[in-house]
Amino acid sequence: MHRIQNYINGSFINPIQDNWIDNYCPANGEVYGQIPNSSKEDVENAYIAAKSAFPVWSQTTLEERSRILIKISELLEDNLQGFAEAESKDNGKPISLAISVDIPRAASNFRFFGNAITQFASESHESVGQQAVNYTLRQPIGVVGCISPWNLPLYLFTWKIAPAIAAGNCVVAKPSEVTPMTAYLLGEICNEAGLPKGVLNIVHGLGTTSGQAIVVHPDIKAISFTGGTATGIHIAKVTAPMFKKLSLELGGKNPNIIFADCDYKDMLDTTIRSSFANQGQICLCGSRIFVEASIYEMFKTDFVKKVKELKVGHPSESDTNIGALVSKPHLEKVMSYIDIAKEEKAAVLCGGNKVTVQGYENGYYLEPTVIEVSTDECRVNQEEIFGPVVTIMAFETEDNVLQMANKVKYGLSATLWTNNLKRTMRMSNQLQAGIIWVNTWMMRDLRTPFGGVKASGVGREGGFEALRFFTEAKNVCIKY
Ligand code: NAD
Repeated sequence: MHRIQNYINGSFINPIQDNWIDNYCPANGEVYGQIPNSSKEDVENAYIAAKSAFPVWSQTTLEERSRILIKISELLEDNLQGFAEAESKDNGKPISLAISVDIPRAASNFRFFGNAITQFASESHESVGQQAVNYTLRQPIGVVGCISPWNLPLYLFTWKIAPAIAAGNCVVAKPSEVTPMTAYLLGEICNEAGLPKGVLNIVHGLGTTSGQAIVVHPDIKAISFTGGTATGIHIAKVTAPMFKKLSLELGGKNPNIIFADCDYKDMLDTTIRSSFANQGQICLCGSRIFVEASIYEMFKTDFVKKVKELKVGHPSESDTNIGALVSKPHLEKVMSYIDIAKEEKAAVLCGGNKVTVQGYENGYYLEPTVIEVSTDECRVNQEEIFGPVVTIMAFETEDNVLQMANKVKYGLSATLWTNNLKRTMRMSNQLQAGIIWVNTWMMRDLRTPFGGVKASGVGREGGFEALRFFTEAKNVCIKY
């Protein structure tokens, strides 16, 4: 059985205690490999490697750091097919998605931050009348921790690592234990690109052991975490007395608000994607669909028809729209919400059942599911399901939908469909979310701030925001 290893100080090594975890293939439910069940001793070794690399890496010129990051990006592009196959096998996502989104975006992350670091600047303040000037140094923090989830494995892993190392830090990183494979392959690429030993160290294992060891390590001064809100709360609690710098990108339950004056076809096509892309396992998915009453019945008919046409199938088939969910426990969790919907007397308009894909009977497949709710206050409309399940309901007025959109604990993103400019401005100002998309969804420009409010997290990633997070501002005041 194939075993992957930790990547520490530029070498691939087994976990010290020789403990391993089975890695499942969601498409067929079979164990296809093992990953290190790393302990805090493995994390300590990763920390020691990172600490030793820091003095040289933090003094490496920006041009040289940039050159290495862009080289990593190019090597990812050169190995697109292999990485995409590994991602699809590990996660269950359609290979077409891994080829068109996940791996290209991972490459873009390195290219973007390789370029961004050469443009990163800090402020200076002339203290007029006091014969003094202040300037701000933006210094790397030291050793930082990056912890990522399973839904967009390499995409989100590199979204943290790239700015961290671009800014001159050394990293101890942990991908999700559910989807470790592309993070493992990244180590080889980093060596090939000439990233110095110890700048990036990748430890595999469970959140509660190796993840926890990173979070509580007294000398890992900043933690960039993406994952569930419950884990974010735990991390915030345990790190508070240690005064760590924290970036928390957490769960979402995003509204998709559709007004009658929208471009209907564009809205319908995009709403299919924003509901079910990656089996609905994207924190940005618009899982609560609110439709203006005058077009509600038309939307319901057209949307359900299109959802029924989506093909649930093996991730490696090129015409598969919906692959497998990431794991058995996750499939069971998502299905439990379909039962909850029935208990809440909501109407399951389509889907709701497991799908048996011939030849892969033990895979974790689920029909895309549309639930019509009569109140926004039911659990399926309030709690993050994180699967191919959306709710739909009608609204009467702008005020009414704004109130419902904001009445959840989360605040990651919101999508608006309208051609009314004044309404766009009013709603964008008042929606409680870190990201608003108008007449589009998940259109990304890596320079923009990315993150949520309320239970969707603290802090912003993206562009210079990420470089600011991974540096400490130090003011120098010189009197002349
Ligand atoms: P999770 O919180 O279970 O795990 C995320 C990562 O944290 C994994 O690597 C896990 O091993 C680790 N972890 C778990 N417990 C830990 C602990 N005590 N200490 C340190 N690390 C620990 O989340 P998940 O199930 O992997 O991912 C799904 C969640 O991620 C969803 O809620 C989704 O909305 C969220 N998400 C958010 C964003 C965003 O940008 N806001 C993006 C993607 C996913």
